[in-house]
Amino acid sequence: MDHAGRMRHLQSVLQDQKLDSLLVTHLPNIHYLCGFTGSAAALLVQESGSVIFSDGRYRAQARAEVRAAKIVIAQKSPLTAAGEWLATARKRSNLSIGIEPESITAGWRGRLASILRGKARLRHAPPLIERMRMVKDVQEIARIRRAVELGARLFPIACENIRPGVKEVEVAAAMEYAARSSGAEGMSFPTIVASGKRSAVVHGRASETRIARRGFVVCDFGVILAGYCSDRTRTVHVGRPSNQALRFYDAVLEAQLAAIDAVRPGVTCAHIDAVARGVLRRHKLARFFTHSTGHGLGLEIHETPRLAAGQSQLLEPGMVVTIEPGAYVAESGGVRIEDVVAVTSSGCEVLTPASKELVVI
Ligand code: ZN
Ligand code: ZN
Repeated sequence: MDHAGRMRHLQSVLQDQKLDSLLVTHLPNIHYLCGFTGSAAALLVQESGSVIFSDGRYRAQARAEVRAAKIVIAQKSPLTAAGEWLATARKRSNLSIGIEPESITAGWRGRLASILRGKARLRHAPPLIERMRMVKDVQEIARIRRAVELGARLFPIACENIRPGVKEVEVAAAMEYAARSSGAEGMSFPTIVASGKRSAVVHGRASETRIARRGFVVCDFGVILAGYCSDRTRTVHVGRPSNQALRFYDAVLEAQLAAIDAVRPGVTCAHIDAVARGVLRRHKLARFFTHSTGHGLGLEIHETPRLAAGQSQLLEPGMVVTIEPGAYVAESGGVRIEDVVAVTSSGCEVLTPASKELVVI
C-alpha cells in the first residue's frame, strides 16, 4: 500500500483547506494513512512530517506496521500526548488544527482545547480522508476481491445448514466457523440469518428462532480479510415457494440487475437508487423497499458513497459499492439480494458473478 503517497496527497489537501495539521482519530483512517491497526492511536498529519501517538501495548506492533509517520509511544492516552506535543512544539502560534468531528467526543474536544490553551485553534475538518478512501487503488481492489471471494464461499455452507427446525444461530455459527477456519480475521458485521417472518426484519441478526418448514431465509454476511470487508446477501426459500413468492423474488432480482446495469462513471448515486426503486415500483413493491440501494465498502463495512435518494455524488472508476435492493412485507417475509461491484472505466464489474437463481431447500 502506498502510505507515503496517501500522506503526501492529504498534506496537499490540508493546504487547500488552510489547515496547518489534521488530528486523525478515526482508527480506519489511521489504518489507511499509515498502516497501523491497533485500537489506541491518534495521528497528526502535517507538512513537516506526520506523527502517530500510541501507548505501550502497541510498541512492537507500531514498529512493525507504521509507514510514513514518526512513532511516539506515550505514557498517557494518545490524544493527550498529541495535544501536549502540539502545545509544546516550537512553532508559530495560532495554528489551525483540523479534527474529525465524527470520531472525537465533546469531552475530548474540550480536554484538547484546554491542553492547547489558545496556542492552536481546533476546527472541524470536512471528511477529507473518507473522500480519498472512496476511490480504491489497484491493491485495495485486489484485497476486496479476495475478501469477497472468501465471503462467497460461505453461502453453500448456509445452504447445507438451513433446514426446518435448525436455529438461525446454528446456521450463522457454521458460516462463521468456516470463515475463521479459512483465514478471515473476523466477520465484517454480525451474520444475518433471518427466517420466516423474521426475513422481513431488515437487519435480522441470527436469533434462537428455529427455521420454519416454509418461507424465505435472508442470509447477509461478510468477512474481513487482510483488513478489507466483504458483504453479500442471498435469500433462499425453504419448502416449495408459492407463485407469489416467486414473483416477489424475481422482482427484487430484476431491481438488482437493473441497478448493476446502471452503474458507470459519471452517474449519480441517487440515479442507481432510483433505478432499483423504479423496478420495484412497477411491481408495486417500492413501499416495501425501506433502505438505500447500497454503500461503499473497504476497510469499513459502510463507507461513502451511499447509493440513496438525494445523493449527488458521482460514481468514479475505482469506487467499490454494494447493490442490495430488498423488499420486506411484515406478514409474508422479505427478500434481499446483494453483490459487491467495482466501478470500471465503462461500467462495473461484479466481483463475484455467482448465480442468483432462487435456491429452494
Ligand atoms: Zn450485506
Ligand atoms: Zn451491505
